[in-house]
This record gives sequence, C-alpha cells and structure tokens, in this order.
Amino acid sequence: MTEEQKNTKGHCPRCDGERNADINAYYRNEWREDDSPVYGIDEYYVLTCRGCETVFVKITEYFSEDEPEEHYDYNTGQVELYVVPKVTHWPMPKFRRRPEWHWRLIFGDSDLKNLLKETYSSLDNGNHVLAAIGMRTVFDRISELLGIDTKLTFNAKLNEMQEKGFIGEYEKETLVVLIDAGSAAAHRGWKPSEDELNAMMDIIEPMIQKHFILPGTVAKLKSSVLPKCS
Ligand SMILES: [Zn+2]
Repeated sequence: MTEEQKNTKGHCPRCDGERNADINAYYRNEWREDDSPVYGIDEYYVLTCRGCETVFVKITEYFSEDEPEEHYDYNTGQVELYVVPKVTHWPMPKFRRRPEWHWRLIFGDSDLKNLLKETYSSLDNGNHVLAAIGMRTVFDRISELLGIDTKLTFNAKLNEMQEKGFIGEYEKETLVVLIDAGSAAAHRGWKPSEDELNAMMDIIEPMIQKHFILPGTVAKLKSSVLPKCS
C-alpha cells in the first residue's frame, strides 16, 4: 500500500457485500525465514464502509509457498500463474443472508431459535457437515412443535405430518431429500458443497416461515381487512 492510499475495497458486514471503504489504520508485516526463499506478507486494514459507515477489519496474507492459481491477463492476453493473497474479514461475511422474518423467531420457541442460530453459525464458519446435521435437527424440532411423536423414525414423522395436513406431497418429497442429506452427513461421511447447503436451507427456511411466522402474519392481515359490504 502506498503512503497516500486512503481507501480500498472490503466486504462490509452490514451491507453484506464488497464496498469502497476508507482506511483508518494499516499495518504491514513482512517476514522471511533464515537461509530460505520462504516468505510472507501480512497486511491488516481497519476500514470504514463508505456506504453505511460500519467499521470492520480486512486481512490479506501472502505466503510464497501457497499453490499458484491461473489468471488471465487482459493486457497481455496471456494466462499467468501466480499466488493470490488469502483475504479474510472480521466480522466474517455471512454464508447466507438471513430471511427478513428471521428476527421474529425471538418471540417463538427458544430451542428452535437456538438450533437455527447454531446452524447459521456452522454455515458462516465453514462447518459444512455440522450445518447439514443442524438442518436435520431443525426439522426434528419443527415436527416436535407440530405435535409429532418424537420417537417415530424420520419417514414415519413425515407420513404423520402429511396425514395431519401440515405438509403436501411435494413438500414431503423435498423434506425426504433434506433428511437424507443430513443423515448422509451424520453417518456416511458426506460433505456437502456450498450449493448443496444452500439448497438444503431453501427447503428448511420456508418450513419454519410457514408454520411459525405466517400464522401471525395472516392473523394480522385478517384483522386489518375491512369487512365486505353486504
Ligand atoms: Zn456498509
């Protein structure tokens, strides 16, 4: 970084994206091993987002022994190999944007709220297997809150939920996939990718919204609609 550089880009935790930011503080640490070509450059930035003024930290770490990556150079038209510094931020960027209704869970069941919180935390920290298991456990808690016998197998729970009208045929099929994925992570050594985890969250989040958020929303809407003229 040059002396006069006053701004850079960083992932703002509040805007949840890459933003222009002012540099409040900067520290560079360059190190080299004795009698060896191995070296590293660590750079620390304290930044303020130019959009929302949130303060956050960005760290770039260059290590000479990291695996070089292929990059296309638009100036030369050549593909070149070089080591790209590892970039991290604090607070860490969220793996997935929380649904708008997420905060309203504070008024509901504390176990469900905490299970979901730990699942999001596992996602944010790159713990893919734990996140997948967490989603299956969230389903378990949902079924319990709906009055389904906790001693039943997952399949039996789904059948009962369908019989009682909590879920339709298609919803049941998607939940079978979610539960199987959670079981594969728990017992068969399956590590889901980010896309697969997002697909699993796409199944479980609407389930929570449907059963624990929507009833309140609908009741409020119903009470605010003017009665029909006779
Ligand atoms: Zn921001």
